[in-house]
Amino acid sequence: MMPSQPARIAYIAGYGRSGTTILDIALGQHGAVLGAGEITSLTRHVWRNNEYCACGNPIRDCSFWSAVCQEWSANPDPDLMSEYCALQTKFEGLSILIRVLSGLDLGKSFAKYARHTERLINAMVSRSGKQIIVDSSKLPGRAMALAQIPGIDMRVIHMVRDGRGVAWSLLKPYERDTKSGLQKEIRRKSVFRTALRWSVVNLAVEYLSRKLGPEKVMRVRYEDFASDPVAVMQQIGAFLDLDLHQIGSSLKDGEPVGPGHQVAGNRLRMNGSVALSKDESWRARMPAGQQVSFERLCGWMLRRYGYL
Ligand SMILES: [Zn+2]
Repeated sequence: MMPSQPARIAYIAGYGRSGTTILDIALGQHGAVLGAGEITSLTRHVWRNNEYCACGNPIRDCSFWSAVCQEWSANPDPDLMSEYCALQTKFEGLSILIRVLSGLDLGKSFAKYARHTERLINAMVSRSGKQIIVDSSKLPGRAMALAQIPGIDMRVIHMVRDGRGVAWSLLKPYERDTKSGLQKEIRRKSVFRTALRWSVVNLAVEYLSRKLGPEKVMRVRYEDFASDPVAVMQQIGAFLDLDLHQIGSSLKDGEPVGPGHQVAGNRLRMNGSVALSKDESWRARMPAGQQVSFERLCGWMLRRYGYL
């Protein structure tokens, strides 16, 4: 038997509220691409709680995901799901970055994690018939774990958004609303908390980039994507070896794009269609004191990404 080609993954890494879900949906418009959403959540909670897929069905009624889970784990087997979940907790956190960077062995259980992951991704490839799977799980730890699996050929898109806009977006609480894709109540997050986490996650993605090398990672600023989607989609297309020009033009013309079968991720995936917008309302609405607090804490990071 011919050795099979490694499965191709376009991984979207970064912090929440940075446009990762809309990029996932946009890439999923291409005929060779499956926009799969935050795959990490499928086994962690989406399947278990029967949460909604972007197609509008609860996940267990979604024809695509039930076929994938059926192929991945016969029945599907709840033991496999929970075993995999425990392995995810072990290998998809930030600690894997430290372990890989210090050259520590990942241990025997990593082989099991790798095998399950590869089989899950292969089931997604075979059930969708697509060549590239978009995984917008965001977590830098999961990206590092996937990068250690030989059967996976991964490219990472590091999505960055001005942290002040992220902090403003997280200051607003949301009630639980499962049908619109909100599985639990979202409490308001303090500027201090967001500043700290936004920096840590983005720095972790940068460490990952250094480890994987520039040909495997590209950085996209959400603001550039929103203001010039044609140019940014062209860059991403060159990076992934895909012609994304048509999608870039549609986004530029404000044409809404329809989600596919994204799991978890931003609630906008449940809207039936989404249009790209450069949301800069925080500049006018976020109290100056809070903007200054964020700048005091993370000014150097904002400068690093050209926001100050
Ligand atoms: Zn679905």
